[in-house]
Amino acid sequence: MPLQHSAPVARVEIDLGAIVANWRILCQHHPSGPVASVVKADAYGLGAAQVAPALREAGCGHFFVGLLDEALVLRDRVPGAMLAVLGGPQPGSEPDYVGDDITPVLNSLAEIDAWTATARRAGRMLPAILHIDTGMSRLGLEPRELATLQRDHTRLAGIELRYIMTHLVAADCPDQPLNEAQRRRFSAACAGLPAAPTSFANSSGIFLGAPWGSDLARPGAALYGINPTPGRPNPMHLPVRLTARVLSVRELQPGETVGYNATWRATRPSRIATVGIGYADGWLRALSGRGRAFFDGTPVPLVGRVSMDLTTFDVTGHPAVHPGCWLELLGPAQTPDDVAVAAGTIGYEVLTALGRRFPRTYCPA
Ligand SMILES: *Cc1c(COP(=O)(O)O)cnc(C)c1O
Repeated sequence: MPLQHSAPVARVEIDLGAIVANWRILCQHHPSGPVASVVKADAYGLGAAQVAPALREAGCGHFFVGLLDEALVLRDRVPGAMLAVLGGPQPGSEPDYVGDDITPVLNSLAEIDAWTATARRAGRMLPAILHIDTGMSRLGLEPRELATLQRDHTRLAGIELRYIMTHLVAADCPDQPLNEAQRRRFSAACAGLPAAPTSFANSSGIFLGAPWGSDLARPGAALYGINPTPGRPNPMHLPVRLTARVLSVRELQPGETVGYNATWRATRPSRIATVGIGYADGWLRALSGRGRAFFDGTPVPLVGRVSMDLTTFDVTGHPAVHPGCWLELLGPAQTPDDVAVAAGTIGYEVLTALGRRFPRTYCPA
């Protein structure tokens, strides 16, 4: 049910132009082939219905989602583009793939067999992406299945192999030997399979360098401003801003406490600002006593527990903070990666957790 927003207490602004600019930066860093857009989980929380068409307009021709349902919603919004489902076709869902020109990622011999049967019934070749597991141990052909397929290519009869892909385990750690190990395993896997284009790097993989280049990169996070090169300057633009209105300002005497379980106690006369956003909006409860917001570019510390829809900040020394003014929670001064450090998680989780109950405005590309 869409909510009415007569006087919002928090808002999200999403700059589609920054996402498109990020895609172009990634294209420059991946000269070996085009760059797809991973828009699973509602484009990492930023809104696939808006993000995917903007990227399609900019020239992106390949999109990945996690679930068939996500693809069905997006099909008409990315006309002419390849739209692939990472999760693998569930038994019985094959007609939906065929009917809407959605490309399955085949993760096992069973999925391959089901897809070749579908092609036989359709009486024509059907496109698919073949996923090889080179170390993630989640989805993709495991070594024994890969060996079976390498011995018997007829198992792929009726399948037009659009790409052979694998997924990096630790691309965000350039010194991790697994990157090179996966590169070698992937080359060996492809060498024993019918010739097909390859798809390898995720966001961080693109920055590992040319040996991890392929015929199709698959970045997600970097499109949305998450730093693909942790520990080094972020080459991406930040497309998201989250602000919350101050609902009240309290004057506290020393000894008075703030929030559930009284985890914060004033040690001096203090001013406490309460904003209308909480863990139900993805402002993680793990930020209790650790996070911060920004007022006019200066940080104000989060004090006490984060509640379901309220969070408190110590604005002592900021007399300009009053009910009705806005604090910035995500933006250039505090990126999703920064919030993730405070919350003990990763920027991916901060973005995908972002709530849907306050209004979003999209700045067109
Ligand atoms: C999510 C995902 C990606 C994108 O990864 P990022 O780290 O967000 O760039 C690429 N490939 C697969 C298989 C994925 O599951």
